[in-house]
Amino acid sequence: DSQLNPDYSFANFIEGDCNRLARSAGVAVSENPGGTAFNPLVLYGDSGLGKTHLAQAIGIKTKELYQDKTVLYVSANKFQTQFTEAIRNNNKNDFLHFYQMIDVLIIDDIQELAGKEKTQNTFFHIFNHLHQSGKQLILTSDKAPIELKGMENRLLSRFKWGLSADLQNPDYETRVRILHQKAYKDGIVLDNEVIEYIASHVTNNVRELEGALISLLAQSTLNKKELNLELAVTIIDRLVKNTKRELSIDYIQKVVCDHFSLPIDVLQVKTRKREIVQARQIAMYFSKTLTKASLASIGSQIGKKDHATVLHACKTVNNLIDTDRGFKTQIDEIDKKLKM
Ligand code: ADP
Ligand code: MG
Repeated sequence: DSQLNPDYSFANFIEGDCNRLARSAGVAVSENPGGTAFNPLVLYGDSGLGKTHLAQAIGIKTKELYQDKTVLYVSANKFQTQFTEAIRNNNKNDFLHFYQMIDVLIIDDIQELAGKEKTQNTFFHIFNHLHQSGKQLILTSDKAPIELKGMENRLLSRFKWGLSADLQNPDYETRVRILHQKAYKDGIVLDNEVIEYIASHVTNNVRELEGALISLLAQSTLNKKELNLELAVTIIDRLVKNTKRELSIDYIQKVVCDHFSLPIDVLQVKTRKREIVQARQIAMYFSKTLTKASLASIGSQIGKKDHATVLHACKTVNNLIDTDRGFKTQIDEIDKKLKM
């Protein structure tokens, strides 16, 4: 089992200026695995821009063209877990042997091996063995190899042996074509004006573009509403606001302070005044629930507190929500303001 998802094919991968080099290198590699100068082929770029899709497309195509070749797709995390287990079970040789038998090895999100010296060391040996035997390596990373931190230099220098190709954010025209294709695949007919509205407002990455289409579809099915421009405007505006808000702990602090008629910077002040302590806890709670920020990062942005303080704040707020009706009403009101 090569762990490949058939949806992630070349046929489903829309070509644009943003991915042309990476895509054509991928096609070349799948037509002649191990036989091009693109070894390893490193695909890099921000999250949601198609690294996993493209890496898998290469695997799928190779399997189609060369039925007898062993293709394996594995995330760096899974590789790491397998390695740890092999060590624990005294099976390191089996692990090595397994990976050295592969013809086309695809490792996704290689940046996850940062700081994992033993795994990197083993991967180094696998890399050398495969490369010397003319086998193909395909790696993806959220950063260019030169910017990867916590990786052994001898590995990084090998990443540069082949080709590093980046995936960029698609331009408007490509976004339109991606949306057409996704809608078509889902069997939905969308007016051009709807597609154009989405393409001009959801601009961060392809994953969000897909997410927008799914939300729109879900809303129209669940609420039995026509999938027209009006619905698109409502849904998309809400989504776009949500993703913007998601980035900003500042914004959460502002809304919380507004709500309690406190000056915005008061949460940074070192004080035990009850109303300020509570406002700070609420801001921490919303930062934890509405952003992806870590406890430590929330703490450092809200009053220079440590992660334990933030954790305590979240617990306190959760408790009060369960036990204090008046408090819960306040939280609901702030939540509504944040989602406006
Ligand atoms: P990454 O691994 O870079 O985070 P993914 O490969 O998971 O990104 O892509 C996110 C989503 O966007 C996937 O569902 C993928 O199918 C889709 N996608 C990305 N690029 C394209 C493209 N060029 N054409 C069609 N779909 C794409
Ligand atoms: Mg990915």
